Amino acid sequence: MLVSTDYLVVGAGASGVAFVDALVAEADVEVTVIDRREAPGGHWLDAYPFVRLHTPSAYYGVNSLPLGRDRIDEDGENTGFYERAAGAEVCEYFAQAAARLTQTGRVRVLTRHEHLGGTSTGEQVRDVSTGALREIAIRRKVVDARYLEASIPATHRAPFDVAASARVVPVNDLPTAIGSAGSYAVLGAGKTAVDACVWLLDNDVRPDQIRWIRPRDAWFYDRRHFQPLGQVAAIMEGIALDAEAGAQAAGVEELFERLEASGRLVRIDPSWPAVMYRGTMLSAGELDALRQIEDVVRLGRVVRIEADRIVLERGETATSTDVLHVDCSALGLGDAPATPIFARGRIVLQQVRHLSPCFNAALIAFVEAHRDDDTDKNRLCPPNPYPSSIWDWPRMISRTWKTEARWLTEPDLSAWVANSRLNLLRALPDHATEPPAQTAIKRYLTHVGNAIQNLTQLHGSLVQPATSAPSDDAGTCQEHHRKEPEMTG
Ligand SMILES: Cc1cc2nc3c(=O)[nH]c(=O)nc-3n(C[C@H](O)[C@H](O)[C@H](O)COP(=O)(O)OP(=O)(O)OC[C@H]3O[C@@H](n4cnc5c(N)ncnc54)[C@H](O)[C@@H]3O)c2cc1C
Repeated sequence: MLVSTDYLVVGAGASGVAFVDALVAEADVEVTVIDRREAPGGHWLDAYPFVRLHTPSAYYGVNSLPLGRDRIDEDGENTGFYERAAGAEVCEYFAQAAARLTQTGRVRVLTRHEHLGGTSTGEQVRDVSTGALREIAIRRKVVDARYLEASIPATHRAPFDVAASARVVPVNDLPTAIGSAGSYAVLGAGKTAVDACVWLLDNDVRPDQIRWIRPRDAWFYDRRHFQPLGQVAAIMEGIALDAEAGAQAAGVEELFERLEASGRLVRIDPSWPAVMYRGTMLSAGELDALRQIEDVVRLGRVVRIEADRIVLERGETATSTDVLHVDCSALGLGDAPATPIFARGRIVLQQVRHLSPCFNAALIAFVEAHRDDDTDKNRLCPPNPYPSSIWDWPRMISRTWKTEARWLTEPDLSAWVANSRLNLLRALPDHATEPPAQTAIKRYLTHVGNAIQNLTQLHGSLVQPATSAPSDDAGTCQEHHRKEPEMTG
């Protein structure tokens, strides 16, 4: 059967739904969204049971629908900070957002439908339940909302061998497996491993029962600097610290020393070099909890787990069948290289402003609705790939600032940004006269010009070593980085 649509959006994760929500608010168009999963919400549908947003709900999701109630948590490690939705709440939210879009009569959501590719007459889609093929004729564009698809524990293949007698579970199975082991070995260096360790400690596992196989050490933001609305001055303070360090550092290592000294970034073990940077964050409570785990194995990636030993890239360590090995090694954020966001007949959703996936998808929709020329659209939305290591920081942060400066010269776009609930700085004008915000704004304005210049130079001076692809538990000290070209259309 041939059906037709203005836009075909492939992927009903946070990016796809946020894009559609903003597009139909700004343009009188018909949109078809497809996803091979059984519901909208993307990776959240298969996330581990104790997952939570690491940023506040206040600026996550779609533009037209609040997530949560902007409450300040009164207990737990998030005390004093804005609420963060748990995975189930995020899934319900996206189901509701998609239902509201369907009610407009201009959006059709086809779950359990997979995009197979283009043909001479349209786009081929397969109904995953029945196997039936259908073709969709596109009047305007195909929107790739899966380019940065998250790689998560439930769907990735463990990148190491496991002997039949070894006990290894994906992190999703940890709650059902807890209690069945005398101790735990957490495999991975990123946010999922952090969540697994914190969850074990919260569930009365002693720190000395946890071994952390951590191939590389990571940097984390202090969550304090990501609090919106009434605490927005703290976000501005964090950005000012970025600008100050960015303006003054003579090299990437020094840059991170400055960011650590200012309290902007933290690492779990300050005595150990950290090169992983994925833009995730920790609260002070989580940091204190994690620092109790002393048994950290730093021998590179896991190669094989046997009944009595773990073989790693640079050695081996003993284990036993009483140890439950918890696989937290999925990549998380996608690591696809930059490609133009707008092209003839096609949009590829990617990061533009750093660490704001929902905001970026909605912003791209606004630009699509209000600009005609792809060169102009790409100038306003240059792709800015997700970071993996400290060497990605200069490019990512300076590119954000350069792009934001372009938005300021476009009144309709800057008005949309100022009012978007997905913009983490939305409340800044309401608090700009308060002393902490004033100080932070002044500090930012003093340094941002030099920071852009210095960081652009730092990025340009980086050499590109040949290495393997990153994964969340990847990377030895011989670190990879990708030197991304400027792409402004
Ligand atoms: C555990 C975790 C926690 C996170 N927490 C936060 C946070 O607190 N704040 C924040 O801002 N960001 C966070 N992120 C970043 C996160 O990547 C985004 O928030 C967002 O959920 C990603 O959505 P997405 O739509 O880009 O990708 P996905 O959720 O991966 O969605 C892509 C979709 O495309 C579908 N698809 C792929 N190929 C096809 C095909 N051929 N046909 C049909 N469908 C297809 C997939 O089924 C999938 O549903 C987190 C990421 C992870 C992994």
